[in-house]
Amino acid sequence: MNQRHTPTLTPTPHSKLPAVGTTIFTRMSSLAAEHGAVNLGQGFPDFACEPALIDRVEAAMRAGHNQYPMMPGAAPLRLAIAAKISALYGHAYDAATDITVTAGATQGLTTAILCCVHPGDEVIVIEPAYDSYLPAIALAGGVPVTVAMRLGPQGYGVPWELVAAAVTARTRLIIVNSPHNPTGSVLRPADIAALADIVRGTHILILSDEVYEHMVYDGGRHESLCRHPELAARSFVVSSFGKTYHVTGWKVGYVAAPPSLSLEFRKVHQYNVFSVNTPMQHGLAAHMADAAPYLDLPAFYQRKRDLFRDGLRASRFECLPADGTYFQCVRYDAISQAGEAAFAEWLTSEIKVAAIPVAAFYRQGQESGIVRFCYAKQDATLQLALARLARL
Ligand SMILES: *Cc1c(COP(=O)(O)O)cnc(C)c1O
Repeated sequence: MNQRHTPTLTPTPHSKLPAVGTTIFTRMSSLAAEHGAVNLGQGFPDFACEPALIDRVEAAMRAGHNQYPMMPGAAPLRLAIAAKISALYGHAYDAATDITVTAGATQGLTTAILCCVHPGDEVIVIEPAYDSYLPAIALAGGVPVTVAMRLGPQGYGVPWELVAAAVTARTRLIIVNSPHNPTGSVLRPADIAALADIVRGTHILILSDEVYEHMVYDGGRHESLCRHPELAARSFVVSSFGKTYHVTGWKVGYVAAPPSLSLEFRKVHQYNVFSVNTPMQHGLAAHMADAAPYLDLPAFYQRKRDLFRDGLRASRFECLPADGTYFQCVRYDAISQAGEAAFAEWLTSEIKVAAIPVAAFYRQGQESGIVRFCYAKQDATLQLALARLARL
């Protein structure tokens, strides 16, 4: 036998995402744990979901719903989603062809991008933006074209004239997110009209991230793109049960899109995840028979938002308008001139409250002296954080 020794080589892949490292959310969460800080950084509730939801998932397992579901999702869940969209937004999606259950909204967003963006296609991303959009565009070989939101007295808004100016013959997709993470801003009818004007007569598709659809406050209404037939006809609308039912760790979401878009979406979905956790889907389908849990959500979170904002009045933080989501952005220039990351780290290690720098949501890390707090927390958690922040 040939015993010739060959040196062991570890092949290194040529990275497709060379700029991607540990996310700010992971870094701030471990810093928070290290310093015993109240974690208002990463966006997840620190309270339990409804016990009935867990009972329904358990019942689904005991009833034998433990094998592969249908590729696009368990039929009862797709029917429940279509019925809900029809009741809330008046759009009739066909559960058989237009609704696909995904492993969280993140997989839905990435799959939507992968199924329609070709190498060299341009994708318009409005910044600050949720952190999964840009890597997904990179994996597809797309070219991100960023447009920065404008911060005025009413809060953050989309400068639609700049979005219109960013459109070229190569624009394939525009990504919108309302209610918006991290700013808490919400698209209004005038925004929808402006978006419709931009895409009318073009081949541009829209990816609408609506995971906070049930978190619009002060009597405002969620402008789902499902409400607007002209836009729904070219949109992937994405939502997440994690946000709606306080179960971010379950990672179940869905994408609603017209048949021609769903067909392409499912081609990628089928060979990426194929299908999503069966008992969770049946449990969620049963739970959706009752609309109260999501219809009560605006009042539930608005009270927490107000508790948090009222508490910050004792400090020198300046609260920006917060019309939706469970995030509150604050300016801190009356407290410190430090950069956002340095300020967030100081806040975590010295004041023992973790926040996220808004610069982390910009490709170029634009600094605006603003950090984001998450108020999806028990009142006791918020009060503990406020007692610490009030000293500033
Ligand atoms: C949380 C979040 C998501 C991801 O939802 P998952 O269901 O947890 O994958 C997507 N978009 C935005 C804006 C989010 O805040």
